Amino acid sequence: MSFDVAAFVLEQYGLHATVKPLDGYEDLNYLLIADEGQRFVLKCTTAIDALDFIESQNRVLNHLAAQGMQGLIPELIPTATGAQTIHWQNEDQSFYIRLFTFVEGTFLSDLPVNNEQLLDFGRFLGRMDQLSKDLKEGAIIARIHEWDHQHFLMNKEHLNVIEDVEQRRVIHYFLQQFEDRILPYRYRLRKGLIHNDPNDRNVLTDGQKITGIIDFGDMSYTWLICELAITIAYTAQLTEDPLECAWHLIKGYHEELPLDEQELHLLFYLIPTRLCTTLIGAAKAKKLNPDNAYISIHEQSAWKLLKQWVTINPTQAENVFRDGAGLPPVQPADLDEMLNDRFEHLSKAMSISYGTPIHMNNAAFQYMFDDRGNAYLDCVNNIMHVGHCHPKVVSAGQAQMTRLNTNTRYLYHQLNEYAARLAATFPDPLTKVYFVNSGSAAGDLAIRLARAHTGNKDVMVVDHGYHGNTSTTIDLSPYKYEGRGGEGKASYIWKAPIPDTYRGAFKADDPKAGQKYGTQAATLAQQAHDEGSPLAAFICESIIGCGGQVTLPEGYLKTVYDAVRTMGGVTIADEVQTGFARVGTHFWGFEAQEVVPDIVIMGKPIGNGHPMAAVITTEEIAASFENGMEFFSSFGGNPVSCAIGLAVLDVIEEESLQQHALDVGNYLIERLKKLQHNYAVIGDVRGSGLFLGIELIENKHTMDPATELAKSVINKMKAAGIMLSTDGPFNNVLKFKPPMCFSLEDADRLIHVFEQSL
Ligand code: PMP
Repeated sequence: MSFDVAAFVLEQYGLHATVKPLDGYEDLNYLLIADEGQRFVLKCTTAIDALDFIESQNRVLNHLAAQGMQGLIPELIPTATGAQTIHWQNEDQSFYIRLFTFVEGTFLSDLPVNNEQLLDFGRFLGRMDQLSKDLKEGAIIARIHEWDHQHFLMNKEHLNVIEDVEQRRVIHYFLQQFEDRILPYRYRLRKGLIHNDPNDRNVLTDGQKITGIIDFGDMSYTWLICELAITIAYTAQLTEDPLECAWHLIKGYHEELPLDEQELHLLFYLIPTRLCTTLIGAAKAKKLNPDNAYISIHEQSAWKLLKQWVTINPTQAENVFRDGAGLPPVQPADLDEMLNDRFEHLSKAMSISYGTPIHMNNAAFQYMFDDRGNAYLDCVNNIMHVGHCHPKVVSAGQAQMTRLNTNTRYLYHQLNEYAARLAATFPDPLTKVYFVNSGSAAGDLAIRLARAHTGNKDVMVVDHGYHGNTSTTIDLSPYKYEGRGGEGKASYIWKAPIPDTYRGAFKADDPKAGQKYGTQAATLAQQAHDEGSPLAAFICESIIGCGGQVTLPEGYLKTVYDAVRTMGGVTIADEVQTGFARVGTHFWGFEAQEVVPDIVIMGKPIGNGHPMAAVITTEEIAASFENGMEFFSSFGGNPVSCAIGLAVLDVIEEESLQQHALDVGNYLIERLKKLQHNYAVIGDVRGSGLFLGIELIENKHTMDPATELAKSVINKMKAAGIMLSTDGPFNNVLKFKPPMCFSLEDADRLIHVFEQSL
């Protein structure tokens, strides 16, 4: 500022003082030390149209000082002529200038925080808000800015300033949760005039008590509960346990200004709101003003807390908040009652995971939350491919659902666009796409296509394979037809051995194991042919999931495909589990085998939980299917599904999830193989990317499956907040197939808990 501060204060206030610039977000602030040692702050507000707002602020400060907050807040010092605000300007700058008393104390950020102090902080704010909340200052009420929670969505258009993909998706998630969970209450939430920025650099302490609060420049007439939400957002950055910190602040505040249940219910999603605004604000400001370090002062710790916030069960948090306000916890559902209700109208043929079932309430990315306050790291749900409730996928679905949903009997560009985008992920000659609604329906259709094209009926499958729940796909699934309640192999099915290089006839150390297993299948295909029932198709998963995450040995599919094709059959790859970049090395699992199938079926991850699936095939096979009968699926390929499918593809690309799956998967394999040296029970570690299997055995020599141990490991890991499942013919293979955002930190946690469980 090209004006002489010392001369100015002498002239206006009769104050002899030395001048030191202070940090500030927007305003220019100066510390003045008078000759007698007394300190003052000169605040120069740069916004030229802010006079109404400044005068409102002045009235609020005068009110608070008059109501007993003298010494605890900056008090206005008038000029010799009695003015509290002076307008100063030269040819390029214009300021409103005010002189304040200096509030004594150390910034909260500069001393360790203790619980007594947090309680006192809560009380302090409660008392202050009690005094200010009912003030009606027009200029404050009229102000619209992104630091006011009511206008949080102003940040949405700036989301892309966040460059880090993880940070961006988490911020987007909380923006969306805010829209969905907070906005419906916007007219019901209690409002009041609050400080709105009690951050640790605006609050002063003597180490025990709060001695004051400064910077009223963000004052807002907004939802009253935001004062606490914002305070928790900043103060928890200074502590290890954010919920414990929140409890103390709430308890203190509630003693002075009682909170209601609705406010406590919504608080969980109002806390990250400020963290997101901080991060977007910092990213924006850094672009404009890379040298102002104060702007990004909270950036790192805000991100650390926001990242932690995603892992917290909202119900657990709500109960802590309620407890702080002296309210009992929200009652969880009675599980026995829920089970009884379920069995009243639902079949017992549908299984439920774990001895004590989990009543799930919420989820975020790789975390799931039950109604008892437990949080789980999800290592099971590969359906939620890009993460539970991924905001980009959710908003794509919501937006399309509000506009149009119809079927493939009409033209709409989403269908063409999605079919083209999906087809582009496949090698030639796979170009023709069909949309259905489940992996099972896709498998069914694939068999119809194969039969229409070949004129044959029989199908060769792989032992322990699973392809779906329809009549046809059950027939294709030894996992089912040979399992409990199964009716055995249908007459048109040929079952090849599983190419398992751990347990099977040919082991991993045999470089020709793939060809040898392939030759077994080829021989079977030949037999079918020779017996007058040539194959229509051979179907195989690219990594055999239900069979125990069995990775196909090199050369396997090539050997089988060659034989099947020679005898007039077609080949089908089941990518329902392995597709969409999960295996890390490739976008599609079959690509690792250096083959191109004639038909591929997809499901599960394709819609991140939205029920959709697809089949892709060649021009020739598609032509054989065009025999006059219409193919119609009521829901397959509808505009909403297409919008969601497109969003999933976008996210995989934008977040580089294929590379991520490879990096995290390789890291896990390396750590697990190290563990294998110390734990003889780990028989095999296999898989690719984020699709892994850990086979547990009793004994290295007999290789007896450690089924009970696997079950107990799963239960122990559940108790430690990690969800895994078992599979394979002996149920002794731990299956790992988490949402693709599963991180390296999650991997460390998984290994740690796994080792402890062993
Ligand atoms: N194929 C494979 C390999 C599967 O794992 C599954 C489902 N577990 C299916 C097909 C059937 O998919 P859906 O449950 O969507 O019908």
